[in-house]
Order: sequence, then structure tokens, then C-alpha cells
Amino acid sequence: MSYYLHPSVSITEITDYKTQISHVGHEITVEEQNKNIQEFICQINKSTFPACLNDHENSDTMLQIFNFFLDHNFITTESINDIDALSSDLKILNNLSFPDFESKSPKLFSKVDCSAVNIFGNGELFDRVKVELEKLEIQVHINPKEDQMGKRIIVCCSDQPNIKLFNEINVMGLEKEVPILFANLDGKKSCVGPFVMPGESSCFTCYTHRLAPNLGFVEEALALQKNKGNIITSKTPQVLYALETSFHVISQIVKFNNQSFHLCLINEVLELDLLDYELDIRPVVRIPHCKSCYSKENLKPVNAVRALI
Ligand SMILES: [Zn+2]
Repeated sequence: MSYYLHPSVSITEITDYKTQISHVGHEITVEEQNKNIQEFICQINKSTFPACLNDHENSDTMLQIFNFFLDHNFITTESINDIDALSSDLKILNNLSFPDFESKSPKLFSKVDCSAVNIFGNGELFDRVKVELEKLEIQVHINPKEDQMGKRIIVCCSDQPNIKLFNEINVMGLEKEVPILFANLDGKKSCVGPFVMPGESSCFTCYTHRLAPNLGFVEEALALQKNKGNIITSKTPQVLYALETSFHVISQIVKFNNQSFHLCLINEVLELDLLDYELDIRPVVRIPHCKSCYSKENLKPVNAVRALI
């Protein structure tokens, strides 16, 4: 079996007798082992590792360090060649966290083609998300026709609330049974989510339905949702806000692809204030008879006992 030093591991010689080893899950200081740890790291690259540890003059210590590195996921049995640091950090988190209901795979995960996404919309946020996905070597299909969509995640972006477009994409994604992620800018604020898993989570219609009555200004919310009476739109430059919001969109795709479903905005929306960095994650409870996502198999709302938006 081959072993590899995890790419997220960082090792620092703090003093002559203290070494700190860390990654996203642990920060551990080891005393009086600086030389042994350095020698151990040299051994990892050998083709005969870990058998070669038995031939070392300090073999007992070397084997103890080996077990210590294994226990803490500092070394892995599979080579990790992710191009982005987020993916390799998520792999550690997934190893460390205990599986619970929220981290179970959505049933449709095995059918999704994670190498590509379909992206719908236009504008600054749309452009930025497209560029960043391409940097991660995820193929981007722009506003594809329905018969060319395949089984890819749908990402829907807009520089302002665009309920009409989002509703259309919501219905399309539900029909195709692919995950749909929504993101829009709204002046100095932005909203990412919900990340819809057809048949298993609340959808965008559930979100808008829950949103209006829970706002203090229902008439205003409904007018915005329907793009009604819009005379002048904000001239706030969107580039910077798009840059900041795109990170959260990309991070959702990477988390889904890494099966970190407990970190995905499923049944949730993330609201960001891009000027004062206020951040809020709100639950999106499913509507039992939602006109978009209702089905007989899916009669009961998941996570029904949660605070409403
Ligand atoms: Zn719904």
C-alpha cells in the first residue's frame, strides 16, 4: 500500500525542541522529536515506505510517528492531486466528521456529472462564476438548450433578484432531476442558495413562498419578486460584489463534488452583506404541496421542524 503526505499538512519547527504539525483538522505541537520527524518525512518519499521504517536505527520511534501521522490523517493511502486547496481540506474534514443524516449523499449524487456544470443567466456574477469554474477545470456550458443539458449541476446567476428566470430554471432542474444552485446580487447584498436537490429538498418556489409572509414589507417583497413597477435600477458597480459572491457559489460546487453535503446550502440560503460582512444562513422549509416540487413520493417536508424564514 502506498502512503502520501497530505497536501494540506504544514510542519513548522517552532524551536530547537518543538515542532508543530497541522492541517485543517488538527494543530499539534510535538516536543523533543524535531530530528526524528524530519527523518520520518524523508522516509515517506521512499518507494519502500513504510517497510523501510523497520530498518531505521530508531525504528520504534519511526513506527510510533508513522501511527501518529496515520491517526491524524497527516498521511493518506491515496494520492490527492486536487488543483484547489479547498478540495484537499474538505477531504480531511470529511474524514474527521462522523456521518450523520445531513452528510448522507443525496440520492441523485451518483447520477450527477461532476466534471461540468450548466450555467444560466448573465451579468457580472455570471461572468465571474464562469471564469472561476474554468480555472478549477470544471467544464462550463453556457445557457444550454434543454436537450443538451446532460446530468450536470445547474448554476443560475443574476446581478439582481430575477424571480422569473429563477422560477423557470427551478422547474427545468426539477424536471431533469439535477441539483440547482441559485445566486443573485441585490445592491450591496447577495443571496446564495437554496441548493436544490430535486425530490429531496425544498426548491426555489418553496423559498419565495416562505420569504414573503415572513418579511415586514409584504407588498414590497411581492413587487420585487414579480419585477413589477421597476422604474430605475441601482447603478452600484457590481464587479466587486460579484467577485465576493462568486467565491461562495464556487465553494458550493466544490463542496458538493467532494461529497461535503453537510456544508452545502441544501434547505438553506446564505445572505451576505458585502459591505459590512454580515452573513446569515437561513433555513428554507419545504412546502408540502409546493406547485413546483411536490410529488407523491415526497409528500412530507424534510426537516419540517425548523425555524421559518
Ligand atoms: Zn418547492
